[in-house]
Amino acid sequence: MEVIIIPANTDNYSYFLIDGIEAAVVDASNADSVLELIDIHKVSLKYVLSTHYHDDHTSGNSTLQTRTGCKVIGGDSRISALTDLVNDYETISLGSSQINVLATPGHTKNQVAFYCAKEKMVFTGDTLFGAGCGRLLECDSERMFSSVNRLRSLPDNTKMYFGHEYTLDNCNYALTIEPDNADLIQRKSDTEKLLNDGLFSTPSTVKIEKMTNPFFRTNSEAIREMLNMQHHSSNQVFAELRRRKDLF
Ligand SMILES: [Zn+2]
Repeated sequence: MEVIIIPANTDNYSYFLIDGIEAAVVDASNADSVLELIDIHKVSLKYVLSTHYHDDHTSGNSTLQTRTGCKVIGGDSRISALTDLVNDYETISLGSSQINVLATPGHTKNQVAFYCAKEKMVFTGDTLFGAGCGRLLECDSERMFSSVNRLRSLPDNTKMYFGHEYTLDNCNYALTIEPDNADLIQRKSDTEKLLNDGLFSTPSTVKIEKMTNPFFRTNSEAIREMLNMQHHSSNQVFAELRRRKDLF
């Protein structure tokens, strides 16, 4: 399966997936750029896959559904132009590839991620970002922590495609928590270079996030010491990290 990154709005990402003559788009922020890719690659759009219902991820849904007759798939009935409501563990076929639905509530309560086990990639929407995680809008931190852990438990070499370009800001926050994390310092400078060159910080990998993303590192001694939470549960550490990020 081929993945084409489509930047949209100021910092959104959509992803155009091609397998043979079939295509899908994860989070259709903008219909025009998707219609253009359908034309260029001479593929038919089978699905819009929506991670959640927020407008900046779904503004293109209705136009794409009307123009191509594609299915609009997601886990939340609030998603614009939704045709097929899916549940955790359901599988979607695209060409010869299988895409698994992973429920990842936290940012919104019916949020899903799309996971391709064979290709080792996951589309995380606003649950997980480069060096960060989404805001808690409809769920408590416990819910979000278990979703973040679900993504963390995927194989280390899984590519993570996230919903926004927030990596640099997230690195700056993470450095207030772990100023001496050499991998994080390196990631910040790598990200600056990518963005200066007009490139993207998406995708990362589970492994990179384990080394640099504080929300994947609630067991880190350095983080616990910084927060003065050596004897707290991982969930409490996660909640405190999220609380501080909201104030950052
Ligand atoms: Zn959102």
